[in-house]
Amino acid sequence: MNSTDKPFRAYLVDQSKQGSLVDLHVDDLPAGEVLIRASHSSLNYKDALAATGHPGVARTLPHIPGVDVAGTVESSSDDRFQPGDAVFVTGYELGAPRWGGWSQKVRVPADWVIPIPRRVTPSEVMALGTAGFTAAQCVSAIQLHDIGPDDGEVLVTGASGGVGSTAVALLAKLGYQVAAVTGKEDHHQQLRDWGASRVLPRETIDTTSDKPLLKSLWAAAVDTVGGNVLAGVIKQLKQRGCVAACGNVAGVDLPLTVFPFILRGVKLDGIDSAQCPRNARMIIWEKLFGSWKLEGIADHTTTVPLTGIDEYVQKILKGQISGRVVVDLN
Ligand code: NDP
Repeated sequence: MNSTDKPFRAYLVDQSKQGSLVDLHVDDLPAGEVLIRASHSSLNYKDALAATGHPGVARTLPHIPGVDVAGTVESSSDDRFQPGDAVFVTGYELGAPRWGGWSQKVRVPADWVIPIPRRVTPSEVMALGTAGFTAAQCVSAIQLHDIGPDDGEVLVTGASGGVGSTAVALLAKLGYQVAAVTGKEDHHQQLRDWGASRVLPRETIDTTSDKPLLKSLWAAAVDTVGGNVLAGVIKQLKQRGCVAACGNVAGVDLPLTVFPFILRGVKLDGIDSAQCPRNARMIIWEKLFGSWKLEGIADHTTTVPLTGIDEYVQKILKGQISGRVVVDLN
């Protein structure tokens, strides 16, 4: 039996929306030019939706969750990749709708694959994963709107979560004063350790007022939460402020008037990570591996084996995760 025929373990969500570990063979995987021997994946909110069979993410069952994967190339029909190369994939269709990274082998189109630089380990890449990439895009959007550290505080909502905690750390690294909003009273010190200059309760954002504008407080914001929270944040932005919006854990509706936009000139910058074009994607990853590298990323990260993932799926669905969760596939 050669290594291609050997069974490998994967987390498969079946027709009844239950996930379990199963043995698969390479022939079971979707087509693609690059076969990756996966060592690490991660847990994102979207993965938890996939793991519980949410039809918006796991469009067909059975399904393997995991929007991120890192490992080494086992085989490649594309000249850009050789067996043994350390590589990773985040986003595109990985884990939604296509089978994803919670699997010891993953086959993908070569255009999705990015080399891992020698100075970075696969587990460090997955500690960032889609969450880190999204946080970095949010920070980049704030910079592109010419909002610098001297312009005032930057608010981060959902600050203890995967995207939020990475955004807090990146903004602090770049010299911004970060006001971190969290619902977790016992995580205030942790958020300060990650770089927040102030930690605020969720009630700081007025989600019930029907006023078109509220007292302007923030030079910019990273919103990972959406819904009424995002609406409240937009009403609290300073003149010419910007919010990079990426999440929807608190809802998808956006009850607003046009006044924040036409009276304060605020910018709503939508962030998508899955379909980010490769050139823009590479610029962000080069920053994350270079001048934006978060040396303390391991302090934000919990590593769990695939056998222990169910507990963390439930936690992330309840908003109880703090920092990032790396899935060890070894
Ligand atoms: P996490 O669960 O790790 O973080 C979300 C955080 O939001 C929670 O930890 C909690 O933080 C806060 N939160 C949860 N529920 C509520 C609520 N009802 N009201 C207010 N705050 C709440 O998820 P991720 O960081 O992985 O993802 C965050 C969001 O970003 C998700 O909606 C996800 O789908 C989205 N996302 C979007 C991407 C894109 O491309 N646009 C890419 C990646 C993620 P706290 O307790 O500190 O308040």
